[in-house]
Amino acid sequence: MWSQRAVVDYGLAKRAAIQSIRSGHMTARDVCDAHPYLLRAARFHGEPTERNCPICERRNVTNVTYVYGDELGRFAGRVKATADLAEMAREYGEFRVYVVEVCQGCSWNHLAVSFVLGTGNGTGTGTGDPPGSSV
Ligand SMILES: [Zn+2]
Repeated sequence: MWSQRAVVDYGLAKRAAIQSIRSGHMTARDVCDAHPYLLRAARFHGEPTERNCPICERRNVTNVTYVYGDELGRFAGRVKATADLAEMAREYGEFRVYVVEVCQGCSWNHLAVSFVLGTGNGTGTGTGDPPGSSV
């Protein structure tokens, strides 16, 4: 069923990155480096949010959701819609979900949150590595 486990909130790291830009320790170019693949994923598979981009403040960020786990086989590392996760959570024992926020305006990208879903009957391993982002 739909129960998130082992939730990791990357909000603190995100705020730190934004802070370093505002204070001039980092330039927007340091963080607005979304990989073309990620931008494409955001454009075609991303889910729009109401959150304004913290860097350019011109566009709302898009959530891109990746799934990782040994049980997923060829689906590991794929971009999924939030709506698909509920079904996957019933199908698989355990997999980890990574939500990356992406601005299609300035290419800001940051890992927002990750959590584990599944029936809990899995092998207990295979949470995988986070997707390539600027984290
Ligand atoms: Zn932006």
